[in-house]
Amino acid sequence: MSNLLYDQLFAPLAGRSGMFLHLDDGTALTGPDFLAAVHRAAAALRAQGVRPGDRVALQVAKTPEALAVYGATVAAGAVLLPLNTAYTPGEVEGFVADASPRVLLVDPAKSEALSPVAARHGAMLATLDARGRGSFRDLCDAQSSEAVIEARDEGDLAALLYTSGTTGRSKGAMLSHGNLLSNAAALAREWRFSATDVLLHALPIFHTHGLFVACNVSLASGAAMIFQPGFDLDAILRALPRATVLMGVPTFYTRLLDDARFDRELVAHMRLFVSGSAPLLAETHVAFEARTGHRILERYGMTETNMNTSNPYDGERRAGTVGRPLPGVEVLVTDPATGAPLPAGETGMVEVRGPNVFGGYWGMPDKTREELRDTGFFITGDLGRFDDDGYLALVGRQKDLVITGGFNVYPKEVELLLDEQPGVLESAVIGVPHPDFGEAVFAVLVPRPGERIDVDAIDAVLRERLARYKQPKGIAVVDALPRNTMGKVQKNVLRERFGGRFV
Ligand code: AMP
Repeated sequence: MSNLLYDQLFAPLAGRSGMFLHLDDGTALTGPDFLAAVHRAAAALRAQGVRPGDRVALQVAKTPEALAVYGATVAAGAVLLPLNTAYTPGEVEGFVADASPRVLLVDPAKSEALSPVAARHGAMLATLDARGRGSFRDLCDAQSSEAVIEARDEGDLAALLYTSGTTGRSKGAMLSHGNLLSNAAALAREWRFSATDVLLHALPIFHTHGLFVACNVSLASGAAMIFQPGFDLDAILRALPRATVLMGVPTFYTRLLDDARFDRELVAHMRLFVSGSAPLLAETHVAFEARTGHRILERYGMTETNMNTSNPYDGERRAGTVGRPLPGVEVLVTDPATGAPLPAGETGMVEVRGPNVFGGYWGMPDKTREELRDTGFFITGDLGRFDDDGYLALVGRQKDLVITGGFNVYPKEVELLLDEQPGVLESAVIGVPHPDFGEAVFAVLVPRPGERIDVDAIDAVLRERLARYKQPKGIAVVDALPRNTMGKVQKNVLRERFGGRFV
């Protein structure tokens, strides 16, 4: 009997001679070491009553043991439910109530708060700390490392990943073995991954980027990973000489560029820098190339779809775009009102179809029908535009579109102009309630370190360069934009903060 993901991603670890995971303390795990940990964790899950199809939730630090739980859920035919470590116990309870996991793995520091949650919802609670120790590890150590693998095929669920839920309730995206494997194979091929690669892994593993893009691509290609607990600038700079690829969110790249130690020589041997999860400013792209000689490869994806588009490995990596559809993935830009496909150059809703696209939202058939068409196209909620060469540029989420006096304003257009102004490091444009216009355009600016922003001068430039309805009706200056752990600007937080300006 076969198990699609186990056979393709994990079983090959048995035959690997070199190291698989390099850790910050100087130790490393070979492929067979890690696979044995996967098998013991699978046995531990079974000992806790986990059967195929059961959910296994975890809110734990990033460790090899936590990664082994991913392999263990695959081997045991279970469904991985990773949770952001920033969630409060109350938030965790919401996910546990929704998904009824059989097991809830938590940091020992949270076990007091979360054991009543587990008890209320019929989950077994076990612990795993930032050193990979805890009651779950003890249970693993008592198990055999013999492989017991449940049969699973393409359509079987492998993971339930809750969307970050910046508007409304988080939804559990159901991802199958086929979804994950097709994307891992496509990305490994497109980005030319091989067994000689060493991926510098500093992303969290509760999110699709760090978990599936980074780990699955490495597993699919036989690459090794330098597995760091989080983004630590010094640790990254120390590890770069041993890496061949870095995957990051845009803030990784801006923080690296802020440090003079990050120079051409340090990264001369690197093969690839990948960016995604939030927009990479064209300015960062250009500054990165000037400093290092490397062009960052930007790609676009989301929890529900895995990765959809990528700039080319060979060929032009176009700043300000997320590249072309990956092989096997269809991407359309459609009229948001009618769903009719739009030609290149016109802005509309990005829709995606392919083996990468999820099967629906857990327990939300109505929401699934709203967003996943009968034709198989998923309505992403992102607005974008193709250029004549087939590169997609994203202009923001539809929910961030500002409709003022009946006119549509794409925040990105105003933000690009604001970012060019003297003293402006970055900007966010939002819509806030307005008695006359319904919504008004409102700009939030962050100054460059040590510089001052002349709001009146900027206002004057905007008046000259933008149609009246696009001009911000108010401008605020703040120290920093609110961002989530993946570096995405939380416009909902800004809308809450500045929403009372005109009403
Ligand atoms: P998540 O489900 O947390 O991965 O968030 C997915 C969303 O992140 C997408 O729908 C986009 O809005 C955004 N996103 C991902 N990659 C990019 C990118 N390269 N540029 C701009 N936005 C991106």
